[in-house]
Amino acid sequence: MKFPVCNQCIRKRELCDKCRDISIPKEEIEIYKKIYNALKDEEHIKDVEIKRAFFDQKLSVIVCKKQDVPKMIGKNGIIAKKIERKIKKDIRIVSNEDDFTKFIKDVLYPSNIIGINIVYEGDKEIYNIRLPSAERYLMKIDPVLFKNMTEELFNKKVEIKFE
Ligand SMILES: [Zn+2]
Repeated sequence: MKFPVCNQCIRKRELCDKCRDISIPKEEIEIYKKIYNALKDEEHIKDVEIKRAFFDQKLSVIVCKKQDVPKMIGKNGIIAKKIERKIKKDIRIVSNEDDFTKFIKDVLYPSNIIGINIVYEGDKEIYNIRLPSAERYLMKIDPVLFKNMTEELFNKKVEIKFE
């Protein structure tokens, strides 16, 4: 498997000089290590490339190449379940290679998006994502985590609006 840090660093406690310069939080590298350990015996996963992992206490969103999403989920979700057991959080496996709207839908699934409106504040684009207020407490992903992730991956601002 490939991660943003080298494979040596996935296996070792200390980061090598090269990987130390990558601006990825330590906790995220710990998630990579857990994914690696959960899947190291899975032969058909060994070409998969993990690009990032975003998480809070409950959920981790694992970002990989588009072609790798089905592999990371596995038949009947068996691979995803192995990762969930290891990192002790629910996970969502997504790709950031499709357009932004598709990404939003994948990450917010199973929320029913009423609409996405783009508004401008100065020269800044803000994506207002409208969700039914009845689903506020059913949302799997915390809005803060979602916002941080979209800003880092796509450099886009989002707001979630319940109506
Ligand atoms: Zn390294």
